[in-house]
Amino acid sequence: MAATIDLYSDTKTRPTDAMRRAIATAEVGDEQKFEDPTINRLRERVCALLGKEDAVFLPSGTMANEIAIAVHCRPGDEVLAERQSHIVNFEAGGPGALAGVMIQAIDGSNGLFTAGQVKAYVRPADRHMPRTRLVCVEQTANLGGGRVWPLAQLEAVAEASHAAGLATHMDGARFFNAVVAAGVAPERYAAGYDSLFIDFSKGLGCPIGAMLAGSRGFIEEAWRLKQRWGGAMRQAGIVGAAALYALDHHVERLAEDHENAQRLARGLAEIPGLAIDPASVETNLVYFDVTAPGWTASRFVEALDRAGVQMVDMGPRRVRAVTHLDVSRADVDRALGLVRQVLGT
Ligand SMILES: *Cc1c(COP(=O)(O)O)cnc(C)c1O
Repeated sequence: MAATIDLYSDTKTRPTDAMRRAIATAEVGDEQKFEDPTINRLRERVCALLGKEDAVFLPSGTMANEIAIAVHCRPGDEVLAERQSHIVNFEAGGPGALAGVMIQAIDGSNGLFTAGQVKAYVRPADRHMPRTRLVCVEQTANLGGGRVWPLAQLEAVAEASHAAGLATHMDGARFFNAVVAAGVAPERYAAGYDSLFIDFSKGLGCPIGAMLAGSRGFIEEAWRLKQRWGGAMRQAGIVGAAALYALDHHVERLAEDHENAQRLARGLAEIPGLAIDPASVETNLVYFDVTAPGWTASRFVEALDRAGVQMVDMGPRRVRAVTHLDVSRADVDRALGLVRQVLGT
């Protein structure tokens, strides 16, 4: 049988041979003593890219979000985040457990919300109420279908937040997908945000790692939590070398993932029993519904898995497929054939 086509997530990428060579030859030192030359280069590179004063390397994007929330807020404060966001759904209750904050979920549209909504959700100064302290956005919005926040909307949200005295944080797990899809410079997307993280282990194809960036004072506080929560590392340049390699070689190529996602979406749209609007696919995340009678998303995903294609069910009828470094155009075409075979169309 041919190799499995893994459309489960862009986290499934394996380091390429060239990335492994960069890893093998990395100069390393003690990261938490600032003695790792590779991590130091990575910090400088990311600060310049994002237009921030400082940055800290972390094992995961989840840790970056949780540290950012804990630095911006005090226990009892309230965070505004979109209802479908990673922070609300996939961080094991971290904001409550680690920062002692409440989240007020904004009901946005495709994972995005507006400056008007920020104004409407901010609490008045009233000692009975939690103090609204932080607004979080997700670029791109994962459960929103990989939607790209338009620059003007991001700027308006940041402006409204700052005007209300709130801090702003961006979950940039797929930040570079937005950069490449919209052709907006990274520092412009980052400008209104007091902190943001970029993930190396998603579309950029690294095994591990994220970088949280912000002001010097913010990163100093972030370091205290990195240390406290066990995220301070030693010869981290081993993985930092992969991140530097990815910034050189795996950013522009995200356009290929977006083309493949479009190709997949258009192919799926032609298959009876599936529902998708290809125009809703802006980056590398393809969400669609299984509408064929007698089918559910989980049955579809199981049958497809047996046929050699991995996707993930995200609801009773909803399925997600993700294109990435290890998925070629030919894989997309083969996957479409196998989807037809499974549905018997
Ligand atoms: C994957 C993801 C994260 C967390 O990143 P990890 O590196 O897997 O911890 C955060 N936000 C979004 C939108 C994600 O997709």
